[in-house]
Amino acid sequence: MVEKITTYRFERLDQTLSQLNSEDCVIMAGGTDVMVLHKSGRGVPLKFPKPLVFIDHLSELKQVYQNHNDLHIGACCTYSELLEERLIPVPLKDAIKTIAAPAIRNRGTLGGNICNASPAGDTLPLLYVYNAKLVLRSINGDRVVAISDFIQGPRRVGRHQNEILAEIILPSVLEEGAHVVFEKVGNRNADAIAKVGFAGYIRINTDRIDDVRLCVGAVGPTMVRSINIEKMLVGKTIPLADADIAQVVAAFSKIIRPIDDQRSTAAYRKTVALNLLRNFLSMKQYQPN
Ligand SMILES: Cc1cc2nc3c(=O)[nH]c(=O)nc-3n(C[C@H](O)[C@H](O)[C@H](O)COP(=O)(O)OP(=O)(O)OC[C@H]3O[C@@H](n4cnc5c(N)ncnc54)[C@H](O)[C@@H]3O)c2cc1C
Repeated sequence: MVEKITTYRFERLDQTLSQLNSEDCVIMAGGTDVMVLHKSGRGVPLKFPKPLVFIDHLSELKQVYQNHNDLHIGACCTYSELLEERLIPVPLKDAIKTIAAPAIRNRGTLGGNICNASPAGDTLPLLYVYNAKLVLRSINGDRVVAISDFIQGPRRVGRHQNEILAEIILPSVLEEGAHVVFEKVGNRNADAIAKVGFAGYIRINTDRIDDVRLCVGAVGPTMVRSINIEKMLVGKTIPLADADIAQVVAAFSKIIRPIDDQRSTAAYRKTVALNLLRNFLSMKQYQPN
């Protein structure tokens, strides 16, 4: 017999938050991860341990706006919507274009990618180098946390049962000045899960590095970024000396711990991750984008 599933779809966010405050539910945004996570076998109906609450239609979670130089992105914006949005930085659009195929991009949301906390989530390396802050909303108000504190492990995040991820804030991203790149290595250019993801952020002031941020994905349980390694580069002149690049690559080599799985081997992932890092640091010029 098919099991009954309780579902909620409220018209407003405040009603949704009230329900979450009184009952533990599975939050469903685009559902592209939720449906896969709860499948129970070919021809067998999905099993949900808790009631489902739909949030993908809530207009309060779909705004994109500028506040001074900060960019606020509603957690339920789909990838396709973000590709059409003028304010979204080009490197983030580049990352989105590598995600799945159009059908998934029409459903999948940025908030879902964060809350799913996959080590191979494609938007995550960039969100880390943008120092993304997350607005978690409940009936008690808002709480703002850094993405690196929110994501705690594969599919493990610091969300309270009564909270919804409402907005992603990219601080100062609309200021001119940083050169940002995203690289994904997979079996093909799109519709493939990353073997390795890399994001680099660098701001130069008259040939010297003012700020640099480096993040590698799919080489550990969460994104790998180290403020201490980044500090080694601040103040250095561009182009970087080979010895400085080698020092940073060696330091990263100690902190990335990829695994063998069906998509790749640990050895391949480590080599590729360090090559992407070396390439980024070896550039002769960095143009703001
Ligand atoms: C065929 C296929 C291909 C894919 N390819 C890629 C790929 O190339 N790259 C990639 O990174 N991912 C890929 N994915 C994974 C998925 O599409 C993305 O992670 C997507 O961003 C998930 O968004 P969603 O809205 O569908 O999340 P959902 O499935 O709705 O939710 C995912 C998780 O986040 C929680 N959640 C969602 N939104 C919120 C919120 N606002 N507040 C609190 N909790 C929330 C849910 O409860 C659930 O635990 C693929 C998936 C499929 C099925």
